[in-house]
Amino acid sequence: MPGVLRGMTDGGHETVLHAVDRPTGLQAIVAIHSTVLGPALGGTRFYPYPDEDSALTDVLRLSSGMTLKAAAAGLDLGGGKAVIIGDSDVLGTEALFEAYGRVVDSLGGRYITAEDVGTTVEDMAVVARRTRHVKGLPLDMGGSGDPSPMTARGVHVSMRAVAAHLWGSPSLAGRRVAVQGVGKVGAALVELLAADGADVIVADVDRDSLEEVVAATGATVVAPEAILSASCDILAPCALGAVLSASTIPDLRCAAIVGSANNQLATRDDAVRLADVGILYAPDFVANAGGIMNISVELEGDGYSQARAADRVDRIFGRMTEILDVARADAITPLAAAERLANQRIAGS
Ligand code: NAD
Repeated sequence: MPGVLRGMTDGGHETVLHAVDRPTGLQAIVAIHSTVLGPALGGTRFYPYPDEDSALTDVLRLSSGMTLKAAAAGLDLGGGKAVIIGDSDVLGTEALFEAYGRVVDSLGGRYITAEDVGTTVEDMAVVARRTRHVKGLPLDMGGSGDPSPMTARGVHVSMRAVAAHLWGSPSLAGRRVAVQGVGKVGAALVELLAADGADVIVADVDRDSLEEVVAATGATVVAPEAILSASCDILAPCALGAVLSASTIPDLRCAAIVGSANNQLATRDDAVRLADVGILYAPDFVANAGGIMNISVELEGDGYSQARAADRVDRIFGRMTEILDVARADAITPLAAAERLANQRIAGS
């Protein structure tokens, strides 16, 4: 397996490995940002990047985000991520995933992979033929399966923590919640909200996903371009990153933002912009940590248990409450409070 160690990078990464396997067309970059708290866990993204530089930029950014996410979640895990360059529909053969498994194995357990955008739990089952350092495996292989329901559970308990902080009660009954994107996480979240008696409005660019959610929950549909500015108590971005920006924030009409999408803020300044207009922004990497918590249970000696995973995910309520309390007491944004708590954990280890 040809591979070139690129070594340290300016983002403080421990290891960046560029791996090529010509027979299968595999071109992958694995970035280990930090193993200070434990092995670096992060999924493998399969994406048709226009060039190698944009793939490298993405994997460096995503892997450092994973360090923060694991630390904020209280997990003894570090941050890492991998990208495979190309179209998964064309290149995603079993041979390629086996070759990729050998790449992951060559890192000796310092990096543990899982599924991400463009890869599935079934792909990870193929990776597992060549390495044991892969998690998020199918349930029938003793794995934790699709993390999306646990991610939705974590977003839901985060909303309850935000409600308690803002309105004195965690109940979401009667609260108007606008969900952008009803894919795997969004759809599960809408079901939890509907069971609470929340007034849910939804938008998606995919008509089939919308119809399923409406049939199951009775949620109200609005146009994709109207969801961000819908009048609501809580806005839940569950589709794309960078939806909160200097151009969208002036039009928001919500009291709080709690969603699953990664990197919801276009820039760090947008956390301050939101605070300035009186909108509480629950940091995405805290609210959406249910998926990584679910996978962390699979890593434990006695194997995966859904009940243990649910119990761990429910602790996001306390974590989010602590972050919001620190932010209020120290007059800083919840983002700054979450980063501070995560960095204190890493520094204290
Ligand atoms: P998904 O692909 O299943 O769902 C995303 C949905 O958003 C799709 O239905 C898509 O049609 C819709 N969408 C795309 N563009 C849209 C637009 N402009 N307006 C409205 N809807 C639009 O993905 P998912 O697994 O549900 O993840 C959702 C988000 O949460 C992603 O940002 C993902 O990175 C993040 N996330 C997911 C997990 C997880 O466990 N799945 C964990 C952490 C973070």
